[in-house]
Amino acid sequence: MARVFLVGAGPGDPELLTVKAVRAIAAADVLLYDSLVDLRVVAMARADARLIDVGKRCGRHSASQAEICRMLVAQGRTGALVVRLKGGDPMVFGRATEEMDALRAAGIGFEVIPGVTAATAAAAALRCSLTRRGVARSLHFLAGHGAESGLPAHDWVSLTKSGGTLVVYMGGQTLPGLAAHFIEAGMAPGMPAVAVESVSLEGQRIMRGTIGSLPGLVVGARAAGPVIVLIGEALAEPEALDSLLLQIETEV
Ligand code: SAH
Repeated sequence: MARVFLVGAGPGDPELLTVKAVRAIAAADVLLYDSLVDLRVVAMARADARLIDVGKRCGRHSASQAEICRMLVAQGRTGALVVRLKGGDPMVFGRATEEMDALRAAGIGFEVIPGVTAATAAAAALRCSLTRRGVARSLHFLAGHGAESGLPAHDWVSLTKSGGTLVVYMGGQTLPGLAAHFIEAGMAPGMPAVAVESVSLEGQRIMRGTIGSLPGLVVGARAAGPVIVLIGEALAEPEALDSLLLQIETEV
């Protein structure tokens, strides 16, 4: 049986943990966690568990990915029950590959426990289906910044033409550039776009606008927490959606 678990801690609210995650956290001898993990989740560990903060957030000192992999392997080798807690779902922009590769290379068995990812938690907060029938045919998760801290080289035109809902992770800072690319690729500046800061947490803030106006709103809001951006017709306010659907039905 696996002694190392990569566990999704969800977007913040401890109530959004899976039962399996809660059990693993409560049983852990060692807990390694990132900065996006809420401290109330960390507090579910046993009083004698070893807690290791490997958090990384803009600027503050944090362990490098290589160090985290080394720590994970070192802890795994001791035979302790190790839980590596990651915000949201470990398999969505969570650097899980590096950690799984390191564990495999060391011959350490592991299990992955999924978590609620920020995109679906934001959809719940907005009470908005990301794949609304007749409006959004696909759902795309995008990184908002690339390795060199600039914008990733997305295929802006294909994404714009997809007619799907676009969800941008790590795009709070780069939103002005992202929006400019989408508009240049043919997206209507009036396309509904919403940013949600600190989904499911006390500081949750919803900023509604369009791809044209949202960058200004987000810059002005000076978010302190993580921000997720959702773009697409599915994000229109319910009344606007009704008239859009009516228009589609009339055209068909
Ligand atoms: N594995 C995580 C994503 C990690 S990347 C997941 O599945 O959710 C980090 C990005 O996730 C942040 O920049 C932000 O875009 C998003 N994010 C994570 N938690 C969030 C939260 N509580 N509120 C808003 N965005 C969040």
